[in-house]
Amino acid sequence: MKKLSFVNVLNKKIKIVYEDMEDWGECLMDNKIIKLNKKCLKDPEQHWWTLVHEVTHMIFELSGIAFMAENDEEAYVRCVENLVIPWVLDHQHLKK
Ligand SMILES: [Zn+2]
Repeated sequence: MKKLSFVNVLNKKIKIVYEDMEDWGECLMDNKIIKLNKKCLKDPEQHWWTLVHEVTHMIFELSGIAFMAENDEEAYVRCVENLVIPWVLDHQHLKK
């Protein structure tokens, strides 16, 4: 699939880079970069959900939530990614 160069997150331009890496993705807030594993390019579904996961990290970090004294960010990100977003995508018909 086609590589992305940038995505917009909360009106900030976030650079997308593809690398060989251990994890599926990584979010570097200070540099406004999201790294995605090159392997994602072979699987649009994996690419999409990894992007969703890293964008959720970026939003939590930009919003300040990631800086709470007790930071269970990974748990919150997984909740949004696995439960909230799929629910929203499955229930868009309720908007009409
Ligand atoms: Zn994560």
